[in-house]
Amino acid sequence: MSSDSDLMEVVSAIEPGSTSVWLECPHCSADAQHQASAYKGPSDSGVFVIAPTVTYGVTCDACGKAFYFRPKALTNTSLLSDVGPSWCKFLPDVNRWAAELAALARADMQGEIEALVWPYRLGGDEYLSVDMKGVEGGDLSITFGVGGVESTEYDFDNLAGNTCFNVPDMTEALSMTVVLMEKLSATVVLHNRQR
Ligand SMILES: [Zn+2]
Repeated sequence: MSSDSDLMEVVSAIEPGSTSVWLECPHCSADAQHQASAYKGPSDSGVFVIAPTVTYGVTCDACGKAFYFRPKALTNTSLLSDVGPSWCKFLPDVNRWAAELAALARADMQGEIEALVWPYRLGGDEYLSVDMKGVEGGDLSITFGVGGVESTEYDFDNLAGNTCFNVPDMTEALSMTVVLMEKLSATVVLHNRQR
């Protein structure tokens, strides 16, 4: 038997005034977008309220279980995912980016997805290349430009040809790749171009 006090809590950093948030269900790990407009009361204004006393009850569409969402203010130090030697907490934007890109990639490729991943340097800059291919058809290539920006540029208008995302460092590029590969259940090969 469980009571409300047993409910798991998910703390996630959001921009002030956010109307929606991507959350990972602590029970089944499914990602879903949740709208502040679905809640009555403190968030009647349609935005998620960031306050020590405010939590939101969420029910996961995938597994039907409930959890609490506690919004936390996004600080300037949250320009990078919190990735250490034995822990990993991706920025909410990384999960959102990966979920949206995975949906687009899925629509472009058929069958199991294989991905070749390799880093390179060119003209004094670092890059990480990710070539995805559907075993039964379709492909998609993305490249991370590494080190030229202070915060990640997640935007993509279209995926025709090579799409480049600029990220602060190689750990962020590889972490974003990991999240994307997990969402695609892709087989990943660290590629050696000399082979
Ligand atoms: Zn769930």
